[in-house]
Amino acid sequence: MARASALVKPPAQDLLHLEVLRTQQLSPHWMRITLGGGEIEKFTPLGFDQWFRIFLPLGGDEGLERIPAKANKIFGYLKYLRIPDGVRPVMRNYSVRAFRPATEARGAELDVDFVIHGSGPTAGPASRWAQSCRPGESVVIIDEGLGFNPERGVDRVVLVADETGAPAVASICASLPATASGVAIIEAPSAEDALAFDAPAGVEVRWIVRGDEKPGILALDALTALDLPTEPFHAFIVGEQSLPTSARRHLVAQGVSKDAISFVGYWRTGAASPTPKSQLPQVSTTREGTHA
Ligand SMILES: Cc1cc2nc3c(=O)[nH]c(=O)nc-3n(C[C@H](O)[C@H](O)[C@H](O)COP(=O)(O)OP(=O)(O)OC[C@H]3O[C@@H](n4cnc5c(N)ncnc54)[C@H](O)[C@@H]3O)c2cc1C
Repeated sequence: MARASALVKPPAQDLLHLEVLRTQQLSPHWMRITLGGGEIEKFTPLGFDQWFRIFLPLGGDEGLERIPAKANKIFGYLKYLRIPDGVRPVMRNYSVRAFRPATEARGAELDVDFVIHGSGPTAGPASRWAQSCRPGESVVIIDEGLGFNPERGVDRVVLVADETGAPAVASICASLPATASGVAIIEAPSAEDALAFDAPAGVEVRWIVRGDEKPGILALDALTALDLPTEPFHAFIVGEQSLPTSARRHLVAQGVSKDAISFVGYWRTGAASPTPKSQLPQVSTTREGTHA
């Protein structure tokens, strides 16, 4: 049988103009931004860890109107970089925490949970925007599909994440069959950030509070202490770069097939995503090109 690819492409990758419907602070490090309106009806929800590029209007709405088609691909990205600094929107990657189809009473809604990290000059532009955006503000998104291909297995799972992967893990758990089993290990900055979510009865959800530890260390410790399922399972590991890298190495050393491990570095300590100069915090280095 052919091996299932790691990724699932979305049915379309058009630029979708949406607006902020409401914002809600869920806990000290979580801000939920609900998007809708505009072209939301063109969005195809795929469940699992569906993610997208989001363009934030930090240079005003003019920049959003100038985003070229396929800004997520190399040639479109080069055109996007030609939008003048000061107007160019900030582009980041986020996950669909939940999608609610339209009803008679309201349009479709898409929840995005932003981790609030850093403060003042050390906060990233996306984290800053999530704290200050207002209903009615415009954004643009491009669907990127899934990093958790259900064809790699949904019956038994081992899900490991820091807080940036919590929305993806919660959404995967909502998409699994009710009969699924396994474990979800999620590291959060504080006990207040450990927010309950629905999961199949056979999937044990373990929150780990990081305290003063470096991101990813305690989640990795929990994984290495785990009795792995004896039957084949699908592992999904995301978060600060060193967590998926080390966790994958551990699983492979335990004999887990590389084809059964979906893993992505969601961010890197001390390295900002590419950012227009006008939006750069004062103390930060830029990691070039990694999201293009
Ligand atoms: C496929 C995918 C899905 C993702 N889904 C989500 C999601 O649903 N929710 C979410 O919050 N994030 C998610 N992320 C991670 C998010 O894209 C990054 O955290 C992003 O760097 C945040 O942008 P920023 O502008 O706030 O910070 P940047 O400008 O990128 O970084 C500024 C500084 O902050 C640091 N930093 C960045 N992120 C964090 C963090 N989380 N904690 C502590 N320090 C940080 C950097 O090391 C840098 O020093 C996802 C990433 C990927 C690849």
